[in-house]
Amino acid sequence: MTYSEMQLALGDKIKLTDAQIAQLTKYAALLKEWNEKMNLTSIVEENEVIEKHFFDCLIPAKVLPLEGKACADLGTGAGFPGLVWAIAFPTCQMTLVEATTKKCTFLAEVVKQLDLKNVRILNHRAEELNNKNQFDVVVARALAPLPILLELAIPLLKVHGTFLAMKSAKGREELAQSKNALDVLGAKLQDVQEENLPNEEGLRLNMMFEKTKPTEHKYPRKWADIEKKPL
Ligand code: SAH
Repeated sequence: MTYSEMQLALGDKIKLTDAQIAQLTKYAALLKEWNEKMNLTSIVEENEVIEKHFFDCLIPAKVLPLEGKACADLGTGAGFPGLVWAIAFPTCQMTLVEATTKKCTFLAEVVKQLDLKNVRILNHRAEELNNKNQFDVVVARALAPLPILLELAIPLLKVHGTFLAMKSAKGREELAQSKNALDVLGAKLQDVQEENLPNEEGLRLNMMFEKTKPTEHKYPRKWADIEKKPL
C-alpha cells in the first residue's frame, strides 16, 4: 500500500496533510534503521509498514473521535497505534505506555525527530500505573487476551471513557470469555468495527467498550494474579 492508497482507503474523515505524510515517512525510516539494532517489528518494508502498521492503526479513527482526547496506548511497542494517532491527530494528548526500556528509547527518538508536542512516554508496566480515571480513550493492540486487557485498561479510564481493543477474528471468542471481567470492572460493549484488511490479511475487529461506573480500587491486581486468574 502507498500513502495515496492509504488516504483513499481511509476516506474523507481522516485527511493527512503533506507534513503528516512526511512525518510518517520519517517514522518508517527510523523504524527500519533501529530495527537493525533491536527487535522492534517483523515488518520493515515501507509499503508493508504503511498497510499493516499505519493504515491498520488509523482504521478505528474512522469511528472513534480522537481530536482533543486524552489517550493512553498500553504496550505500544514501536508506537502502534499511539504514535500513529499522535501524528494524525495533533490535538490528541497521547500517553505511550511501554514496559521495555529500549523500546522507550526508540519512541523518544521518534518523538524528538518528528518534533511531536503531544506525546508523553511512560516506561512502566500498565498494571503499575498511578494514572487511574484519567483518560478519555485507552487502546491496546497485540498486548494480551481480552479479559486481561480489560483489567489493565478500564481502571485508567474516566467514567464514560472508551477502551478500544484492536483484535483479529479471534476477538469474538475472547469477548465471550469477558463477561465476568466487564461486570466486575464496570464496563460494557459499545460498538464493534469490522474491517477486512487488504491482501487477505483477514479481519480486523475493533471492539469498543464504555466504562459505566468507577472501578473498584483493588483493580488492576498484581501481574502474577492477573495472568494466573484472569477475571
Ligand atoms: N502495540 C504494539 C506492540 C505489541 S507487542 C503493536 O501492536 O505493534 C506488546 C508490547 O507490550 C511489547 O512491546 C511489550 O514490551 C509490552 N508489554 C507487555 N506487557 C506489558 C505491560 N504489562 N505493560 C506495558 N507494556 C507491556
